[in-house]
Parts: sequence; structure tokens; C-alpha cells
Amino acid sequence: MKNIIVIVNQKGGVGKTTSVLNLATALVVQNKKKILVVDIDPQGNATTGAGIDKNSAIKTSYDVLVNDIPVNEAVLKSPSCGFDLLASNRNLAGAEIELVGLEEREFKLKKALAKVANDYDYILIDCPPSLSLLTLNALSAAQYLLVPIQCEYYALEGLTDLLNTVKLMQGQLNPELEFLGILRTMYDKRNNLAQQVSTQLEEYFGDKVFYVSIPRAVRLAEAPSFGASAVAIDPESVGGQSYLRMAREFIKRLKELN
Ligand code: ATP
Ligand code: MG
Repeated sequence: MKNIIVIVNQKGGVGKTTSVLNLATALVVQNKKKILVVDIDPQGNATTGAGIDKNSAIKTSYDVLVNDIPVNEAVLKSPSCGFDLLASNRNLAGAEIELVGLEEREFKLKKALAKVANDYDYILIDCPPSLSLLTLNALSAAQYLLVPIQCEYYALEGLTDLLNTVKLMQGQLNPELEFLGILRTMYDKRNNLAQQVSTQLEEYFGDKVFYVSIPRAVRLAEAPSFGASAVAIDPESVGGQSYLRMAREFIKRLKELN
């Protein structure tokens, strides 16, 4: 679906969830867009970071994927960030196994989101750090791929696996899937290694690298402990500002592609 964007990188801790939460908030507060964030990571970081208690009696993406609960019956509103959320918690870890026996198991999320896609301007999916069946479900549902990359030594390792998976997806499960871009996260322009990796990314991905990069910023790391994004609680902060700029580039890039 054209308005579904998956934020993916099987490497852990590169800023996927931080990017989803801050981009989503920016699109709501700055651009007045209606946004659904879909958490399909059993860690449930996007859920907690959006101010929802993941262990309370809520319906989650597990219920949608495994029990066929309609998305609109499971959607919650983030009290702090203003977007809608399909939550997740560790129940979802079991879904991997439960899904294996099901028919069309890679298309469960796609089918579920198809029913609500028209209710939103954009749907952003936060993936776990793996190329698991959950991630495949996200890659099947989305039209666009956004890959946060931390510019450090091992950043490019594993990227080949991701690119191969994307190629496989394009060939088989989702011919529509295309790159929206690469986002440099926790980026320190004064650091030589970060600069080198950034240059390599530009050489390889060309104009697919977002012009806006996200610096390492305290507020971005602190905000989740308040159950909010930095854009929501401190939009003037360095981190908040960077995602507000990134959201403008995000919309511009999507317009150019559509
Ligand atoms: P996982 O693969 O486990 O889901 P992730 O890719 O979603 O991780 P995040 O959880 O967003 O990564 O970020 C990892 C850690 O780095 C978190 O503690 C987060 O607060 C911090 N972090 C992310 N981006 C920044 C940034 N730009 N500046 C400072 N800290 C950041
Ligand atoms: Mg995460």
C-alpha cells in the first residue's frame, strides 16, 4: 500500500524505534497528518515510548496477526504523541511459531492493514532487529522502506543481507517495495569514522541517503523514560528539531515518488 512505510534494519539499536516515534509525532504536530504506528517488535519499545503500558490488558499486533482481530478494534491513541498505535508486547514473540502453520503467513499484516489504510495519511511500521517472519510481514505490507543506519564500523556489515532480503521480497512477495531512503542516526559529523561511513553510504546509495541526518542527542535518548518522543516533549531540542526537519524531507520524498 502506497502510504505504508516500514522502518527496518536487522541490526539492533540503530535508532529504528526512536525514528518511528519522533517522525510520527513530527508528522502529527508539524504536518497535521493522521498517523498509525504499528509496533511489531516483541520488545514493545515503540509502545512504551508512546506512553502505553505494554503489560496492561490491551489488544496488540499479536491479536491482529494470530487471532484475526481487526486493526481498528486494537488501535490505541498515544496520550503523549498524538498518533494512533497498534501496540506490541512479548506475546508477539510466540507469534513467530504460531504463524508458521498458517496459510499466507507472510501476508497477515498486509491484509489486516488494508482495511484501515484509507483512514490514515501514513502508516509507519517499527520492526524487530531481525529478518524474521514478523519483519517479512512488514516488508510485504509496505510500499516504502526506510533504513536507519548508525554510521559506525559495523554499519555496512549486514546491510548486504538486508539488501538481499529486499531483492527477494521484490521478486516474490512484494514487487511494489521500494527504497524511500537511508537515514543516518546518532551521527557525529566531527567523527572521522562516522564521516567515512557516511561517504560510503552516499557512494553506494546516492540520493537515497536522506539529506537530513540525526545527531546524537540527549533528549532523544531521555524522552522514552517519560513515555513520549523528544518531538512531543521538547520540540526545540537539537534532537526534536532534527526529526521535524527529517519529517519535511520525508513528505517531500514521498511526493516525488508518487
Ligand atoms: P532495536 O533494534 O533493539 O529495536 P532500535 O534500532 O529500535 O533498537 P532505538 O531503540 O531507537 O534503536 O535506539 C537504541 C538506543 O539508542 C536507545 O537507547 C535510544 O534512546 C538511543 N538513541 C537512538 N537514537 C539516538 C540519538 N539520535 N541520540 C542519542 N541516543 C539515541
Ligand atoms: Mg526498536
